[in-house]
Amino acid sequence: MPVGRVAVVGGSITGCAFAVAAARGGAEVTVYERTTGELADRGVGIALHVDRYAELVAAGYLDDTTPWRNVVGRKWLLDDGDSARGRLVWDQPAAFRMYNWGQLWQGLRRRVPAEVDYRGGTPVTVGPDGEIGLPDGTREHYDVVVGADGYGSAVRAAVFPTIRPQYSGYAMWRGSCRWEHEPMDDLISICVPNGQGVMYRIPGADGDEDRLSWGFYSSVGGLADARPALLALARKYFPPFWADLVTGTPESETLIQPINDLVVDAYTSGRTLVAGDAAAIARPHVASGAVKGIQDAVAFETACRAVGPAGSWDEVLARYQADRYPAGADLVRVARAMGYAMVEDTPDWATMTPERMVDWWAAQHADDGFGGHALGASISVR
Ligand SMILES: Cc1cc2nc3c(=O)[nH]c(=O)nc-3n(C[C@H](O)[C@H](O)[C@H](O)COP(=O)(O)OP(=O)(O)OC[C@H]3O[C@@H](n4cnc5c(N)ncnc54)[C@H](O)[C@@H]3O)c2cc1C
Repeated sequence: MPVGRVAVVGGSITGCAFAVAAARGGAEVTVYERTTGELADRGVGIALHVDRYAELVAAGYLDDTTPWRNVVGRKWLLDDGDSARGRLVWDQPAAFRMYNWGQLWQGLRRRVPAEVDYRGGTPVTVGPDGEIGLPDGTREHYDVVVGADGYGSAVRAAVFPTIRPQYSGYAMWRGSCRWEHEPMDDLISICVPNGQGVMYRIPGADGDEDRLSWGFYSSVGGLADARPALLALARKYFPPFWADLVTGTPESETLIQPINDLVVDAYTSGRTLVAGDAAAIARPHVASGAVKGIQDAVAFETACRAVGPAGSWDEVLARYQADRYPAGADLVRVARAMGYAMVEDTPDWATMTPERMVDWWAAQHADDGFGGHALGASISVR
């Protein structure tokens, strides 16, 4: 890696992974995170595809010390007015590790070496090439600025001011509640007209207790007053067992997430790069948000190693752009197609058989990106 100073804006999943990547290369690293204290007590569930997890373990970014719950299949269920848990429409193979977001973040945060200056409670602004504006009005200059500041990225706004997230027209209502039933190892998908319920087990705060992380995509109801409409829809369309869990979750344990699409025109601009959700927002149907952000960091480390101490930051950034822009743009494309099929234009679920579900899934080309692309895969943007 070229010698220098790297600023990482955002200390969440992607930011911590970049701090690890840059510190390994010997850079002097500062992370600016606007939140004070721990991020860990926020968030619900997050999925890692088992193959992507294995790649990230091999790259030295994850390990098995973080609690997780296993998923070996995906059950698509439809309320048939008869069985409490619903009629099985399709038992689809799936292989994921399900995490409590806070614990996944803590695992990455622990990997950030002590010599990295992680400054919580520090919202920053971004100026011309390599300049960071601190809350006290002072300015710092860096060789590289990493925008790992999520979907509302200030770094992206500074370098690509016209690019903004595009609202898909629907939102996901999310929450988590206690799971006091069998150790379920399925991802549950509830089939709803113009919507979908998604549920899986995650570890609770102590790592032992089970929680059910649930999400409900629906285009019905505005963002501001969505809760009453979503409660009514869950009661109407979810099989009673799942409806009780969702509607019984206290409001304080829920949040509404607008579903957006976004991809920047380029992952770099001058000495600034963008990563994770700051660079590309793929709808959550593709289950790859955390994987994508960590992979961006691995690609940055790989580019640094390839260029070596005698190389330049410009070479590092060019390699990063060539590797990650196509991957991000492609994932956004796949996720949009999945969102269209799963929410915007759902089939008549009552007529679906396992055979028709297989065809429906293939028509979305969902396997081109579900769970994320393989690390280092060569992807041409379609
Ligand atoms: C607290 C939290 C909880 C989450 N929970 C879940 C979850 O349960 N399930 C799920 O699928 N996804 C969750 N996400 C989103 C998920 O982390 C991302 O979709 C994905 O992992 C990519 O992460 P990211 O690090 O690129 O972006 P994000 O996770 O959005 O992180 C961006 C970070 O940048 C910081 N930031 C923003 N602007 C500035 C600024 N100007 N100066 C300094 N810091 C700034 C934010 O505080 C945030 O910590 C959560 C995100 C956060 C922040």
